Amino acid sequence: MEGSTAPLYLDHNATTPLLPAAASAMRPFESERFGNPASPHRFGQLARQALNEARATVARCLDCDADEVIFTSGATESNNLAIFGLAAAARGQGAVESPCLVTSGLDHPSVREPLEQLRANGLALREVPLSPKGLLERSALRSLVGGAAALVTLQLANHEMGAVQPVGSLVGELGGTPAHCDATQAVGKLPVSFRRLGVTTLAASAHKFHGPKGVGLLLVRKGTKLTPRLFGGHQQGGLRPGTEPVGLAVGLAAALQAATQEMGARTQHLLTLRRRMLEGLRAALGDVWVNGPEAGGLPQTLNLSIPGCAAATLLMKLDLAGVACSAGAACASGSLLPSPVLRAMGLPDERLRTAVRFSLGFQQTAEEMDEAVRRIVRAANELRGSEVA
Ligand code: PMP
Repeated sequence: MEGSTAPLYLDHNATTPLLPAAASAMRPFESERFGNPASPHRFGQLARQALNEARATVARCLDCDADEVIFTSGATESNNLAIFGLAAAARGQGAVESPCLVTSGLDHPSVREPLEQLRANGLALREVPLSPKGLLERSALRSLVGGAAALVTLQLANHEMGAVQPVGSLVGELGGTPAHCDATQAVGKLPVSFRRLGVTTLAASAHKFHGPKGVGLLLVRKGTKLTPRLFGGHQQGGLRPGTEPVGLAVGLAAALQAATQEMGARTQHLLTLRRRMLEGLRAALGDVWVNGPEAGGLPQTLNLSIPGCAAATLLMKLDLAGVACSAGAACASGSLLPSPVLRAMGLPDERLRTAVRFSLGFQQTAEEMDEAVRRIVRAANELRGSEVA
């Protein structure tokens, strides 16, 4: 690897390469097994059987019932369906007198923007403060919910800096208020039990755990009142009508099963890579700040501030040097605005200006990390030199 110019992909929180086992599980559904799962004939039956098996696999991996699994086009759709669907159901039931929504600065835009739409339609939006390491303040959560909330959003693991919230225990503070959990960065990387988390709905996206793009999940607890966003079909209990993407669902299930079975080994390897990279950078550059948890967060995520290196310029230099990383959510890359998540954690301006997210993959090697460190150190030293001059 030394001296190689091969591009290094350190942006696995944006998306991951498709697992070969998932690709081969999907292949028959691109050709001979093309039936519509709603058709009663044998072509339909074969498709329906595959869809049912995919649902059963998801249920086993995420500890829920198969009929609690809805396939969507991805986490963005899942988050929108849950938030609008739960809020509409709460309003319709008149469950609370002047309902509010409770969120935090952790949330991804696909959670935040639906909430902003609801705010524009007259619902109050309250924000739970974060600690400097990116954890929700429990007592503030308890008092903000305080019997008047229609919906609370609780993110399981953060896309930008990797903090993991104790969602299962935070749900205990909600007094039965419906809770939506965006678990997009957690599923496939951390053990997730829908039952034990106790949330009402949970979203995930296959391409974040080496599954295909264009398919995601919404888990919906049995008995939940959820108003659909789409109309015109009976599929998936009418909650998400339209012909199900059978091949994509099969690919999602195959990737999730592999991630679940290999989780221990993948996590150990990722933690080793993460430590090696951080130690390598600190040895060569001196002070390197970790934004978010130094340990105990997502094993593949390392959000760093290198003093004296503006993130926007460093990213450009790294791209030229063949290192792909990001300055926040992929949707925000290219923008010079500091990360809203890090801002909500109250980090000082210098940290915000210099924050870069590296997210590693379990298929990568120690040699690749060493090469990444060499390229980052070179780019950072050049940048520091030019800023001094
Ligand atoms: N939530 C989180 C935490 C994410 O990281 C992402 C993807 N960046 C999403 C939701 C949206 O996922 P998708 O783009 O696959 O719909």
